[in-house]
Amino acid sequence: MKFKQQMLVVVSLLIIVGFAVTASVSFYLSRESAVDMLVEHELPLTSDNIYAEVQRDLIKPRTVSSFMGNDTFLKDWILGGEQDIGAVTRYLREVKQKYGAFTAFMVSDLTRNYYHADGLLKQVSEEDLRDEWYFRVRQMRADNELNLDPDMAHGDELTIFINFKIRTSDGSFLGATGLGLNLASIKGILSDYRDRYGNNVYFVTPKGELLLHDRAGALSKNLHQEPGMAGIVEKLLTQEEGRFSYMRDGKTYLLNTRHIEELDLILCVEAEEGLVDKPLLTPVYVTLLVCFIVTGIVLLLLVKALNFYQGELESVAWQDPLTGLLNRRAFTERYERLKRSHSRKGRPLSLLMVDIDYFKLVNDQGGHALGDKVLQAISQLLSRNLRSEDYLGRWGGEEFILLLSETTHNEATEIAERIRKELELDAPVKELYAQGVTLSVGVATQQEVYDLDVHIKAADRALYNAKKEGRNCVRSA
Ligand code: GH3
Ligand code: MG
Ligand code: MG
Repeated sequence: MKFKQQMLVVVSLLIIVGFAVTASVSFYLSRESAVDMLVEHELPLTSDNIYAEVQRDLIKPRTVSSFMGNDTFLKDWILGGEQDIGAVTRYLREVKQKYGAFTAFMVSDLTRNYYHADGLLKQVSEEDLRDEWYFRVRQMRADNELNLDPDMAHGDELTIFINFKIRTSDGSFLGATGLGLNLASIKGILSDYRDRYGNNVYFVTPKGELLLHDRAGALSKNLHQEPGMAGIVEKLLTQEEGRFSYMRDGKTYLLNTRHIEELDLILCVEAEEGLVDKPLLTPVYVTLLVCFIVTGIVLLLLVKALNFYQGELESVAWQDPLTGLLNRRAFTERYERLKRSHSRKGRPLSLLMVDIDYFKLVNDQGGHALGDKVLQAISQLLSRNLRSEDYLGRWGGEEFILLLSETTHNEATEIAERIRKELELDAPVKELYAQGVTLSVGVATQQEVYDLDVHIKAADRALYNAKKEGRNCVRSA
């Protein structure tokens, strides 16, 4: 690979690596703080809010249920022998409607009759598993409990029941009454959280059964069967509060849990860790875009700079600094090039060796700087006489060389003569050096066999003759 390409590759790599490192470091730092934010604030806040909402939803119905348990109407009606079923049905219907409950019920211990807003539903029995709750309430020391059960009167829909004991003034047990609350409102809260924050909210029983959830379908019905949770499920179900992380379907989930005593359920709030990446990726894309633009601009400038200095270096390599003509090396290279095309066609190639007469005098009389100017003026005159296919070089101090393409010896001699005469009259030179300057020229032509050394020697010999024969003249080899 050339130096230039190497430079471009190294510089682009440096810029790209720089940007990539900066972007990824800032991405991972902000990701860390975003995950922190999620674990420390967002998930706990969600669970706080849900906890508060669940409690609020339960407080009023509890008061109402307590009122029902102590209502003299119900006590009197039971003690009166449960005569008018219509009266108790109306009572239950009114309570249900007034407080927006899902169901209102009353069970008499004497008859084991289960009444609700639509009349007598059934008789509770110790054999029926569904009635287990009644016998639990009957035995318990407290006067009320909160229970989550399917409601038989409403197609077994999952319902929170608030069960209160009915007792006579001397404390003997008459039955149980209370309200059932639909969980739809709680489910509404869950789906709202899911839509707003992407948090998945669900409740599980202490046994690990998934109970209340909003489309938490990806989860197993029992958390014990959730492969990623194997290591955390026991802690999760027994701790009052907890923070966990686990894998599901190749994604990491951050999970906050909290035991809700009133319901004996565990509230779970989880979020997919990967979701925090989405907003953080935008700055990464912007950085990459800036990186590409900056890299592009830098490469463009670099290419320009390199091209400029390369041009400078190349011209130093082939140019004579004083006159701007080809130096010896470049001229030799041009000669080899022309030689090839000429030997193919067998064309004549002519050389003019041009030397300024008594140039030492110019320097001696006008100074070296003036000598330089005269050299420049003469090189311009020679350039003017050049055809596009010819070459002109500075061979030595005050010696010039012309290579005339496809030029016979006669034509070359004519050109040399024309140049010689032109210089005698050249105004710019006369202006610099009033006495004027003259040239001696040696002409040599080669055909079929071309050799620079031989060619130059021949031209030099002719030039020597010109000098010997009085200068300011053209001589042929
Ligand atoms: P001749 O007619 O025999 O060629 O005489 P001459 O004085 O031209 O020849 P000579 O070789 O004795 O002197 C050449 C002079 O050219 C001497 C040298 O100082 C001068 N010269 C060579 N290169 C430069 C240059 O780049 N600038 C200047 N000002 N003078 C130069
Ligand atoms: Mg000389
Ligand atoms: Mg000379």
